[in-house]
Amino acid sequence: MTRFVQTMPEPADPYTGDPLLLAWLRQHLSAAGAGAEQAAATRLRALAADAVGPLRQAHQDAEAHPPTLVRYDPWGARVDRIETAPGWQTLRAAAARHALVALPYLPEARARWGAATRVVQHALLHIFGPESATFSCPVAMSDGAATLLRHPDVDPAVREAWLPRLVTTDPATAVTSGQWMTESSGGSDLSRATTTARPAGDGWRLTGEKWFCSAVDAPVAVALARPEGAGDGSRVLAPFLVPREQPGVRVHRLKDKLGTRALPTAEVGLRDAHAVPLGDPRQPGLGWMMTVVRVARLHNAAAAAAGMRRGLAYARAYASARQVAGGTLAASPLHRATLGTLAVDTAGAFALAGHAFALLGKVEVDGDPDAETELRIVAPLAKLATARLAVATASELLECFGGAGYIEDTGLPRLLRDAQVLPIWEGTTNVLALDVLRAVVREDAAGPVLARLTAAAERAPAVAGPLSAAASELREALAGVVADPTATAVVAGARGLALRLAYALAGALLAAWDDELAGLAADLWVRRHVAGEDIAARAMPAEVL
Ligand SMILES: Cc1cc2nc3c(=O)[nH]c(=O)nc-3n(C[C@H](O)[C@H](O)[C@H](O)COP(=O)(O)OP(=O)(O)OC[C@H]3O[C@@H](n4cnc5c(N)ncnc54)[C@H](O)[C@@H]3O)c2cc1C
Repeated sequence: MTRFVQTMPEPADPYTGDPLLLAWLRQHLSAAGAGAEQAAATRLRALAADAVGPLRQAHQDAEAHPPTLVRYDPWGARVDRIETAPGWQTLRAAAARHALVALPYLPEARARWGAATRVVQHALLHIFGPESATFSCPVAMSDGAATLLRHPDVDPAVREAWLPRLVTTDPATAVTSGQWMTESSGGSDLSRATTTARPAGDGWRLTGEKWFCSAVDAPVAVALARPEGAGDGSRVLAPFLVPREQPGVRVHRLKDKLGTRALPTAEVGLRDAHAVPLGDPRQPGLGWMMTVVRVARLHNAAAAAAGMRRGLAYARAYASARQVAGGTLAASPLHRATLGTLAVDTAGAFALAGHAFALLGKVEVDGDPDAETELRIVAPLAKLATARLAVATASELLECFGGAGYIEDTGLPRLLRDAQVLPIWEGTTNVLALDVLRAVVREDAAGPVLARLTAAAERAPAVAGPLSAAASELREALAGVVADPTATAVVAGARGLALRLAYALAGALLAAWDDELAGLAADLWVRRHVAGEDIAARAMPAEVL
């Protein structure tokens, strides 16, 4: 008797096999003039070819050989060296070469794509992230650090020392940055932070304990500290740039994590660590740090949507080969409905992440104040909604492979483990929901979202009813928030309100998009996430998404 071995077919190409990505790029790049789409395609094709070849292998190597901490050299000197797999180094080099961080900072990219440079960067992240062994994390934090360094209030000497290395495409000189905020006393509640900063002759000295420091192999980090004499609370905390290789920085241990295992995340002690302020540390600096966090939140949304997409591509490939009940799994209406529903969720997540990046580009390149207001609420909405979708989708995706989905060396369980970090870091769902309330009350930021619902309802008759009803309900709920933001019912309902806002926004974005596939996704998304319908019987055509 021959032994049956189930083969795993190759999933679709992450660029040419992703029709929504292609349509999104078409929509956003057509305004950037002739050649803009082609220039993006050249970059994205090259990255996709690497992603399914050497980078997939590098990803597997980095996952199979997690980082280790070497505390002492053979002679007893304290070195705190992080050793990482060759695959991790390959991913580091590829991230630089493909301009994952650099693109929005390259003058030639801005000249070519204008505000849509961030759209192209998002497409790069969408292709690179899912099989990058979470190198997407240092990419995110480095992008945040670069955004902060570019600010005119940063000392030009500091900018010149670090920014070119963060945004170079030369792997030989490229560096990444960490982001050290969380302390054991509080990650969400930064007012409890105890790391202090005191001026010293040649800069500042930081002392304290940082409880979660990802990409601790990065040569530099942006750390939050309380300047001497600044007082209590979180607003006065200030960002400092801390070179990692110095006696004042000690790596206590690497975290033993559920997922993101290739990514070195450490507990770090600072003892009079040399640091340079980013901006004036005598001014309240938390807002500055939120520049970094906002960028990282957008990357989180991109990672969530991209992971959903790649997992779906694998599940589809498997369904095309796996036989059940006398046919392929892909021929089963029930399984097609399952995959179709996942495709709808993936489309919604992509629209939210893509929209956030498009807004960021408008803010950075056009200085668009309306985009700034909208991004204020879209950043937390996109982050929180996509992260939750990613976890639910990852669980369903594993089930699509049956028992194989639970077996480590298929590489599939990682999808679920790595998705689970997305709602935790860069702000949990509750913390982001409270941030949404602040954006509504302080910046009146819900207006642009409601306007999108109304416009989409007018434009797309298929979704007009549920979107109009959602707009009315949300308007009323938001009025309640503004009337009494601290009311128990308002605070308790913040998460539900944020999710309803995000889901309605995703529907509006899909409906407003001039594309047939997006129209299909809009109809099914709105039925499922806004009207609360079971879309199984309708979801089969969504396999084309
Ligand atoms: C793998 C990994 C890597 C990380 N890397 C980094 C890093 O590089 N740099 C860094 O700075 N941090 C990092 N973090 C830390 C992460 O950002 C924090 O864990 C996160 O912000 C939550 O903070 P906390 O752990 O203190 O939890 P808490 O803030 O104690 O949260 C516990 C629970 O309380 C809820 N909660 C908190 N505040 C409120 C509130 N006001 N109202 C209602 N509910 C609330 C939360 O939603 C959560 O459910 C990392 C975390 C992980 C898991």
